[in-house]
Amino acid sequence: MTKSNLHTHSYYDDGQDSIDEMVQTAADKGFTVLGFSGHAYNPLDECSMTPEKTNQYRQDVKRWKNNPPKGMAIFLGIEEDSMNPVNPEDYDYVIGSVHYLTKNGQAWPIDYSQECFEQMLAQGWNNDIYALCKAYYQAIKAQAENERMQIVGHIDLIAKYNDDQKYFRFDDPKILAMAKEAIEALAHAGKIFEMNTGAISRGYRSQAYPSDQILDLIFQNQGKLLINTDCHNRENLDLGIDECLKRAKTAGFTELYTLTQDGFVGVPIDEFQG
Ligand SMILES: [Zn+2]
Ligand SMILES: [Zn+2]
Repeated sequence: MTKSNLHTHSYYDDGQDSIDEMVQTAADKGFTVLGFSGHAYNPLDECSMTPEKTNQYRQDVKRWKNNPPKGMAIFLGIEEDSMNPVNPEDYDYVIGSVHYLTKNGQAWPIDYSQECFEQMLAQGWNNDIYALCKAYYQAIKAQAENERMQIVGHIDLIAKYNDDQKYFRFDDPKILAMAKEAIEALAHAGKIFEMNTGAISRGYRSQAYPSDQILDLIFQNQGKLLINTDCHNRENLDLGIDECLKRAKTAGFTELYTLTQDGFVGVPIDEFQG
């Protein structure tokens, strides 16, 4: 069986637990693949790792990578923000995430708080949700050209505060067309999409990213898929993986991706456990 999570945070960024605690709990929970993906340094983001912390983080994870608990492979990854490119040679893999949108020289955080989201919509995009979504999905689409990253981080981040469809409808054809353009480009570039349960653990959403409509689009475009929890503490290392496995099967996926010493591979979905 495979139990995999490649999107995890520790106390080196805005996570709560040490690398040791995360590894220990992952071993207790039966993980076979564990990847760390600390927030790469972004001067705008106080949750990201400073260059000094990044060095400590890398050393700490490498210690476990070279001497993992029995039955588990550990990888050193990074969550890159699209504003600040990382050096991919420093890492086993890179998650590419769009956390900010820039308009007229000003960078707006997408997921900092609902208040910030509304400010961005009003002041940056004149309350035009279609224009905002267009800017978002174009930024996501541009990640197809990003050769540093393998995994597309939380493709539905724009919907973090939209669980009740307050700002837009997930089945709105105009929104779906924007998302489709991005997904086509990313799938064509061989990027791996993630189902991400992070916003559930923090109480913002009842369902993992992405929405069913986006998941269907990924499937229709033969996109590669993996399941990550984007957890910020050890308890949530496997939060919602069961539910994601069910949704991925319902959407038609027969294999999911995980990381091995030889790189990313597709594994039959029935071999995964939550
Ligand atoms: Zn993120
Ligand atoms: Zn994250």
